[in-house]
Amino acid sequence: MPITVVGSIAFDAVRTPFGERERMLGGAAVHFALAACLFDEVRVVGPVGDDFDEQHLRMLAARGVDVGDVERAAGETFFWRAVYGWDMNSRETLETRLGVFESFAPKLSERSRDSDVLFLANIQPDLQLEVRRQLPDARFVAMDSMNLWIETARERLVEVVREVDCLILNDGELRELAGRANVIAAAREILSWGGPHGGPSIVVAKQGEYGAALITDNVFFSLPAYPLEDVVDPTGAGDTFAGGLVGYIAAHPDEALDDDLLRRAMAYATALASFNVERFGTERLQELRGEEVHERIEELRAMTAFSAGPAAVRRSQ
Ligand code: AMP
Repeated sequence: MPITVVGSIAFDAVRTPFGERERMLGGAAVHFALAACLFDEVRVVGPVGDDFDEQHLRMLAARGVDVGDVERAAGETFFWRAVYGWDMNSRETLETRLGVFESFAPKLSERSRDSDVLFLANIQPDLQLEVRRQLPDARFVAMDSMNLWIETARERLVEVVREVDCLILNDGELRELAGRANVIAAAREILSWGGPHGGPSIVVAKQGEYGAALITDNVFFSLPAYPLEDVVDPTGAGDTFAGGLVGYIAAHPDEALDDDLLRRAMAYATALASFNVERFGTERLQELRGEEVHERIEELRAMTAFSAGPAAVRRSQ
């Protein structure tokens, strides 16, 4: 099923202990699209400024991404600067310049409105809601967000969450949004919110280098991150993860959205995120091949399986 994604298309300046880039292609929608396009057709909605290099759109188009709804506006492309310390699980944002996002009013083409699957990447909740309402009949809608919006636009954000099927958030943000100290309790709280389309039924807690957990009313499933010794730049790992998860679900329209499908989607999401962090920005995903993904899925499967074996626990005395 075709996927529409709305979110930032950016220039990122990033420094990690292993190098730096001053102006690389980034943005939540771009990272998401480069992952999801391995599974299905992706249509990107978002603005770029007049400083944006056409070659980036050509690269996305060459990967099969539909960039027809990328709007070129007068002004500066979204710009984000961050620095990572030795612990690459946490980073400091040094600068965010919204640029053309400040006056962006999403106008989706008929093609983008026709998608069965929608991903609302991390942007202002107002924009997320506007886009959500332009696809009232989408079969599957997922979203991401961040602490900035939890702290400055909580009410609006809750409104968006109540209009999606699946919420994908960092576990700290999940606790903050639900006001619960425990991540499972936080997910359960959000699952109980309901909404005009039934409310969210899937919550995914991203836990950086420790992996991710999926929580529904009757499933808890967790995977560790694929173990890598050389993590070069985690930027965009969350969006790549979401692209893998949503892309895999979109590519299996005839299957019920059950435990089995969700577990497989989590595995693909985990595998894709691990490729993303091997190089800076989008460098690795731009050239990633399907066979590499399948190999990593098999490794991940072998790594996380165990047999029941004979009972080893002595009965209590
Ligand atoms: P992630 O590492 O998955 O959290 O995503 C990082 C990407 O999100 C970068 O490529 C940034 O350009 C983009 N980003 C950072 N802050 C924001 C924001 N406030 N709104 C939209 N996108 C953002």
